[in-house]
Amino acid sequence: MAVRYELIKTCAQTGARLGRLHTPHGVIDTPTFMPVGTQATVKGMAPEELKELGAQIILSNTYHLFVRPGHELIREAGGLHGFMNWDRPILTDSGGFQVFSLAENRKITEEGVTFRSHLNGDKLFLSPEVATHVQNALGSDIMMAFDECPPYPAEYDYVKRSTERTSRWAERCLKAHERPHDQALFGIVQGGMFPELRRQSAADLTSLDFPGYAMGGLSVGEPKALMYEMLEETVPFLPAGKPRYLMGVGSPDALVEGSMRGIDMFDCVLPTRIARNGTVMTSQGRLVVRHAKYIRDFSPLDPECGCYACRHYSRAYIRHLIKADEMFGLRLTTIHNLHFLVELMRQVREAIREDRLRDFRNEFFEKYGMEGNESGF
Ligand SMILES: [Zn+2]
Repeated sequence: MAVRYELIKTCAQTGARLGRLHTPHGVIDTPTFMPVGTQATVKGMAPEELKELGAQIILSNTYHLFVRPGHELIREAGGLHGFMNWDRPILTDSGGFQVFSLAENRKITEEGVTFRSHLNGDKLFLSPEVATHVQNALGSDIMMAFDECPPYPAEYDYVKRSTERTSRWAERCLKAHERPHDQALFGIVQGGMFPELRRQSAADLTSLDFPGYAMGGLSVGEPKALMYEMLEETVPFLPAGKPRYLMGVGSPDALVEGSMRGIDMFDCVLPTRIARNGTVMTSQGRLVVRHAKYIRDFSPLDPECGCYACRHYSRAYIRHLIKADEMFGLRLTTIHNLHFLVELMRQVREAIREDRLRDFRNEFFEKYGMEGNESGF
């Protein structure tokens, strides 16, 4: 088996899980946040910088690498680890989500999806077999099964047909997988916002005995309360001995709430995307450092943060860099946001270890300025 999940303990206050995920490229402490490196790079960050801020695993996107530069080129380079000089664990998605959100003129059949590249209009085809073959070439530690992510909102009948097809596709991915000894293939639970379909999907996938399970089709525009309800309806049906991954979630409040509901892994472009827009996450809430009110503010982005940016640079300086279109400014906000989420997850793990995650959640939310589910993201 390529990966092994070790459950260390469960938080007595919440049921959150403290664990370790053992992979061919190292151990990941869970719950964990995975920075996203869509084009085989976390935008603007050297691998050494990611390590320095504590990232133990990163995610890369199969769709983008399939379209450019192509998986055979990456195989030739020694896989994604060799190509991008990252020797820690990598998770790749299956390309399903991007095909459904980015590609043009897509046509779905039982066989797979035909679509046009968002770059040059080339006609391309992805199927369970192709997505698995591509990820085998990329050599990621964790691969994802090719699925359809239904939009929100969607009709029950459509989601039912789509979810059943995703289960059939998951079985085909397992059959096509050529490297189960050193790459773990995770199944993706779909089912839209229908508890009954979520449970059916979880039952279908767990019967196939994947080494890990993801919750897909969430954080697609639905209210957060509905996402949490779907987690509560589904997570109890997933095996305790396998890791659980909530896809596309990265706002601070949802990381804490997801952990409380038994999720072990998260990923999202949010911290890096908003950083490039001059917005940072801080212990006091969201801060838009481009704003004029920071013009003479010589304090760090977050007085409580120990990241490289906060140790050495002021809001005034970073604001100046961003206004002057200097790329160093966006690197500093990126370093800070990634550090903030990696550090938040470290604190979550500590709180689970001490059976006080609910207390931690309440203190964190109060300080961050959120009541209920509004984080400003
Ligand atoms: Zn910082």
